[in-house]
Amino acid sequence: MSFDFNQYDVIILGAGASGLMCAFTAAQRGRRVLVLEKANKVGKKILMSGGGKCNFTNHFVEADNFISNNPHFCKAALKRYSQWDFISMVARHGIEVEERKHSQQFCKNSAKDILVMLLDECAQAGVEIKTHCEIQNVKPLELSGHSDKHQHQDNRSRYQVSMLQDHLPHKLQCHSLVVATGALSIPSLGGSGIGYDIAKQFELKLTDRRAGLVPFMFSDQTKTLCERLSGLALEVEVTCNQQSFTENVLFTHRGMSGPVMLQISNYWHQGDEISINLLPYLDVVGWLIETKKKQGKLLLRTLLTKKLAKGLVKELQLLWWPQQAESSLAEMTDKQLICIANNINNWRLKPSATEGYRTAEVTLGGVDTDGISSKTMEAKQQTGLFFTGEVLDVTGHLGGFNFQWAWSSGYSAGLFV
Ligand SMILES: Cc1cc2nc3c(=O)[nH]c(=O)nc-3n(C[C@H](O)[C@H](O)[C@H](O)COP(=O)(O)OP(=O)(O)OC[C@H]3O[C@@H](n4cnc5c(N)ncnc54)[C@H](O)[C@@H]3O)c2cc1C
Repeated sequence: MSFDFNQYDVIILGAGASGLMCAFTAAQRGRRVLVLEKANKVGKKILMSGGGKCNFTNHFVEADNFISNNPHFCKAALKRYSQWDFISMVARHGIEVEERKHSQQFCKNSAKDILVMLLDECAQAGVEIKTHCEIQNVKPLELSGHSDKHQHQDNRSRYQVSMLQDHLPHKLQCHSLVVATGALSIPSLGGSGIGYDIAKQFELKLTDRRAGLVPFMFSDQTKTLCERLSGLALEVEVTCNQQSFTENVLFTHRGMSGPVMLQISNYWHQGDEISINLLPYLDVVGWLIETKKKQGKLLLRTLLTKKLAKGLVKELQLLWWPQQAESSLAEMTDKQLICIANNINNWRLKPSATEGYRTAEVTLGGVDTDGISSKTMEAKQQTGLFFTGEVLDVTGHLGGFNFQWAWSSGYSAGLFV
């Protein structure tokens, strides 16, 4: 058998999570697959993920864990390739797994195990991967001479990809083109908008995009408060736009981070307030009023330091009862205590911004799923053009859901390219 070396059944743009998954799935079906990656290394986000341990999926994956203009879109792919399918591949490769809270699945040793596994699968299936490939443009090829109904079922090339590899121009052709170039978050790890440009070129709609799973910044007195409390973490409940999460907040020099803030950032829009419940498991009003009756001589800050860090209590005192700092509980009115308790349960803050794409784990929004088949990930109006992973308007919660979407969407496309 002879090959035209510039011609492939499938070209995949992007050697990240969904691109690699799609690549070996297609190659296992006998397709000749080439993956083009602009960076010097493949899978950079996988290596950096989960603090180097890659939170690769979660035991409980539901459509509710994803945000999209069409909340039903993700269901077919998640069913076709579930968390259990990925977990069994991980087990087949002998990778040691560590389960953390909220059923999150991490590598016990290193995120590298996941990348090595994906690359092993690619190698076994005969996938070709080229790095240092800067895509310049893609264009559809005219399919002349075949007007019969099998026109799109034969194996002729439908797309041409122009690229620079190590600064040298190349033109390649393929029957199916997969856009797996990810999204805008963390440009230094490969974040790019080329997937959106390709979608626009083929008249696919885009939904608004913004940084997700990202820390908050503040411009008012909260900014200096965060600086002073930098390094402190505690479990809180945070609410915004009817969504709540209970997890750790981490005060930083730049503002508020930690899993709970990353989760709620997906539901926050510029100008929105967030509400923090500093003692989510306690009826603070009842506790303060009862203690006033039984131990009236206590200072409020002394009582609060039984449940909250000293430094935080000092900051709250400055905000909410500076004049009564040295008053005992008995010297404070019930009304004052109720007001402070309500603030503790519902501390309302207005972030000035998020840290943006520089540190965001994901990009919300993307290629509008209305134009994409939920079964195959193929553009409905553009035969042979597929989109997988984060470039699509599907964003997961923190907890392994974004990788699961990459695996599920990559696999689904891999069956049809
Ligand atoms: C720091 C960090 C930690 C994360 N941790 C987790 C976690 O623990 N669990 C989880 O579920 N999710 C995590 N995520 C999110 C997860 O990494 C992404 O959702 C996932 O990688 C998306 O997969 P993808 O294939 O769509 O895109 P990516 O994995 O981003 O892959 C896209 C690839 O395309 C390449 N590319 C871009 N432009 C071009 C171009 N013009 N030409 C050729 N190639 C190009 C990029 O270099 C990249 O290799 C994390 C993200 C970050 C940034």
